[in-house]
Amino acid sequence: MAGRCHVIVIGPQGSGKGTQAARVAPLLRLVHVATGDLFRQLMTRDDELAREVRSYYDRGALVPDELTLRVLLARLDELEREQGDQYRGALLDGYPRNLAQAEALDRVLTERGDVIAAVVHLVVPREVLIERLSGRLICPTCGATYHVRFSPPRVAGICDHCGGALMQRSDDTPEAIARRLETYEQQTAPLLDYYRARDLVIDIDGNRPIDVVTRDLLVALESRLAHNPCRSS
Ligand code: AMP
Repeated sequence: MAGRCHVIVIGPQGSGKGTQAARVAPLLRLVHVATGDLFRQLMTRDDELAREVRSYYDRGALVPDELTLRVLLARLDELEREQGDQYRGALLDGYPRNLAQAEALDRVLTERGDVIAAVVHLVVPREVLIERLSGRLICPTCGATYHVRFSPPRVAGICDHCGGALMQRSDDTPEAIARRLETYEQQTAPLLDYYRARDLVIDIDGNRPIDVVTRDLLVALESRLAHNPCRSS
């Protein structure tokens, strides 16, 4: 019997990957695993590893592949221990981001007996991305995201979910945004061809209201997951 069925979300920064992944994952019995969130959590520590990650993160540069894979695998192992058969697989947000990461992911998933059930591609025009990223706010306590204009919190500056003080991400500066979008175009977007060759990609128009995108994603992913023999599905 196959192991876990994982889903990958690919889209440029600001395409709504994190927002949509957090909404659909629990409804599909997937766990939202965002490498960016894992790094933000890691950077709250005061040690050498946290400083190393920050030296890449704050510039909007990719953290080295080997370190990123280690952090991701530690989280997948933790989920195996914590979730048991409750969980179908991970909804991977922000990984893989280049060809070497995609190949490494294939290798480790094969070793585990897991499969990739689908790759969601969120499509959003560049000018919309820049507008979304420059007004983005994040809760450092629970990870919830907001936008000053498009999805403001009920009380300005305060997280609706946990009451934490909202802040701008340290890599949402104009320079880091430009760099991250360029890295996406050069290194991440080519992965779509890699997965298209295996007929895994589902293109979703991400430039629509949040609820509409969520509904489309749920319909598409339910059907893909139903056709994969995942454990506990
Ligand atoms: P994100 O929250 O997905 O936009 O990621 C924020 C930052 O975390 C990126 O700009 C990178 O510095 C780092 N990061 C997240 N995922 C990866 C990855 N798969 N490979 C390398 N660096 C990553």
